[in-house]
Amino acid sequence: MAEFVEVKTQDLSGAALLVLNAHANSLDVPFPHWIGGADADQGPSYCRSCAEAEVAAGRAEYVDGGWQQENDGCCHCETCGRLLDYTLTEYGASEEIDHYMGTELAGPISPEDAFHIAKMLEQDEKNPQALSIGIQAAELIKAQESAIEAAGLKVKP
Ligand SMILES: [Zn+2]
Repeated sequence: MAEFVEVKTQDLSGAALLVLNAHANSLDVPFPHWIGGADADQGPSYCRSCAEAEVAAGRAEYVDGGWQQENDGCCHCETCGRLLDYTLTEYGASEEIDHYMGTELAGPISPEDAFHIAKMLEQDEKNPQALSIGIQAAELIKAQESAIEAAGLKVKP
């Protein structure tokens, strides 16, 4: 019985992740880059062109990174604010869960929302709160899509 429940939970999170990731698929999310060198601040993350701009401006000697990193929260370029790819630490995922549990999840779910919720669920697919948020978001996305489809059918000749 316990085994059955576990399989079912994985199916549900897999299905939710499929919907969330498909919805986030329109986003172009680059990996984070960092800057290095004697006086460079290695803390912030940048998109590639902003990291290169730091080097060009003489604030760093070289560009580092270009891969996914574990974060305690979502990851944005220090300069331009662009969303960068990340995975969440356990702490980061629990912060995200707290955030989503504290707000009423209502549509429309943007591709960026879907991206963040998928990252949260991917960190621990067995977490019942993460799963419930993920499923709720996936259902909202599906409802949005069928509403768009229905509207599309009406305007077709
Ligand atoms: Zn940037």
